[in-house]
Amino acid sequence: MDCDVLIVGGGVAGLSLAWRLSPSRSVVLVEAEGSLAYHTSSRSARQMQPSYGPAAIQELTRRSIAMVEGISERLPAPIMVPRAMLTLGTETEVAALVAANANLESLTHSETMERSPDLRPETFEASALDGTAMEVDVPALLEFYRRQAIGTGAMVLTGAPVTAVEVVASEPAGGTDAEGAGAEDLPTRFHVTAGRHSITAGTVVDAAGAWADVVAAQFGARPRGLQPHRRSVAIVSTEHPVDPSGPMVEPADESFYYRPDGTHLLISPCESVPAEPGDAQVVDEDIAELIHRIGEVTTVGITGVERSWTGLRTQPADGLPVVGFDADVPNLFWLAGQGGYGIQTSAALATLAAGLLTGTLPDDDGWLAGALSPQRAGLG
Ligand SMILES: Cc1cc2nc3c(=O)[nH]c(=O)nc-3n(C[C@H](O)[C@H](O)[C@H](O)COP(=O)(O)OP(=O)(O)OC[C@H]3O[C@@H](n4cnc5c(N)ncnc54)[C@H](O)[C@@H]3O)c2cc1C
Repeated sequence: MDCDVLIVGGGVAGLSLAWRLSPSRSVVLVEAEGSLAYHTSSRSARQMQPSYGPAAIQELTRRSIAMVEGISERLPAPIMVPRAMLTLGTETEVAALVAANANLESLTHSETMERSPDLRPETFEASALDGTAMEVDVPALLEFYRRQAIGTGAMVLTGAPVTAVEVVASEPAGGTDAEGAGAEDLPTRFHVTAGRHSITAGTVVDAAGAWADVVAAQFGARPRGLQPHRRSVAIVSTEHPVDPSGPMVEPADESFYYRPDGTHLLISPCESVPAEPGDAQVVDEDIAELIHRIGEVTTVGITGVERSWTGLRTQPADGLPVVGFDADVPNLFWLAGQGGYGIQTSAALATLAAGLLTGTLPDDDGWLAGALSPQRAGLG
């Protein structure tokens, strides 16, 4: 089969780009696993936090929240709900956070206790509140991206790992022309074997998450130092009922977080341990230590683990995504390195990537494209 753009990877990055690109380009998306979003994209904490991350991420998150709000309004049920974020610390830590971030407001000790009555009052002095943070129904968002992409002509193939790549020159329409221009002067195309499929594409997008450097190497590109780090989440039951509308809570050193998940609690030890690309698994001790820690700072009384999972947050050394054309391999495009921000930036990042791919990026977004460029200093 033949297409304008082949997207490698069926997580949130690949699916959101297919949504943005398929109205104007013929798109094929290939996913190695038997189902979409098998890896990191189905293992997140489902948060969209405008106060989280460096400036480029915060901008993309604000834009994405506005876009997902628009998506949500078109669906039968809302897919995003407010989930305020409380960061606990000393008076000094909180003052520093609030000074650095316009989305944060300072709460006194008693205001914090009103917001989160399960806290042990002696374990913190003050908090910073991000009242603009949201929780998103990730399966519903992914399904929206998939359905829209297919509805505008994209082909989405699962069980289709890219295993072989051949770079070929396009056939000149009428052979070599009178002035001697031959196949070597025409744009290259990629012949890709993905599972049982043979695909020819003018452009390839590397949206392979933890495997992004591996896939780039298959196409002849140099790696960008995209390092996966494992992080876990558990859903736990509690002795005292949890207020389902309560905030997400984390200490200023970001060493763990928890938030209501219905009447249960979602908890994360926030570990960031380098790992190989693969099917990441929970280390039970991480969860056990965290349960002990949450017992020290709250009165919720965790009684058991309902389920737990681990995913890989993949990013380069400077912590920013890698988005744009590769300077050395013509028509290879990167959409990788989203780290812990891949859900909350997906709608706007896919829009930015589609703008770069189609040559329609607004001038005002040049700074974002520069900040995320695969050619920026310090990568690899
Ligand atoms: C515990 C945890 C909590 C998180 N919480 C949040 C959060 O609250 N908010 C947020 O914004 N982000 C969060 N994240 C980060 C977010 O989940 C990721 O940034 C995002 O899912 C990355 O998406 P992706 O599409 O790049 O990667 P993936 O979802 O991993 O998709 C990449 C896909 O490429 C496929 N692939 C690889 N090689 C090939 C090949 N050769 N051929 C074909 N396909 C291939 C893989 O099978 C995979 O499905 C969290 C992550 C973790 C682990």
